[in-house]
Amino acid sequence: MLEFYLLLMDLLNSINLPSPPLREYVNLNRPSGKHTYNFGMMSGFSEIRECEKHGDYLRKVTDGNLDKIINTCKNTEKVSWTSITNLIYKEKKENDNGVKDIKLYNPENHPLDELMLHPENKSLLFDELVINGEKYWIPFYYSVAEKLISECPKCEKKNNKSS
Ligand SMILES: [Zn+2]
Repeated sequence: MLEFYLLLMDLLNSINLPSPPLREYVNLNRPSGKHTYNFGMMSGFSEIRECEKHGDYLRKVTDGNLDKIINTCKNTEKVSWTSITNLIYKEKKENDNGVKDIKLYNPENHPLDELMLHPENKSLLFDELVINGEKYWIPFYYSVAEKLISECPKCEKKNNKSS
């Protein structure tokens, strides 16, 4: 669990909000080989990130990772977003619309409050991906631990060289 916490802290420190003009690129539907996907509206930081060294960049999901997300969640029951936030914030809010349309990616079955809650500002740490029209919530933990969503391409190139 310590390793998990350190990973989460590294991740939070690396997040910067994108500059406003680039926000216009967010939420386009992107074809990726056999699948289409976009970063949904519920996502806190979504598609564009800023690298301290290299500036703004687009995060991407490969076909292989889309396959992995789809297959991992194949038998996952769809839930409503309030049922997720109730678990995380220990609340009992009425489900405002009752629509169960989210598949939560959590193959290691971590408790959701440890997995998705920012320890300081209590925001939710996940990406929403809409893949082939289906909504998936991907906690940042998995985005990073399993490299589901690409981060700064220039940093990745550098890391690959040095390894
Ligand atoms: Zn970089």
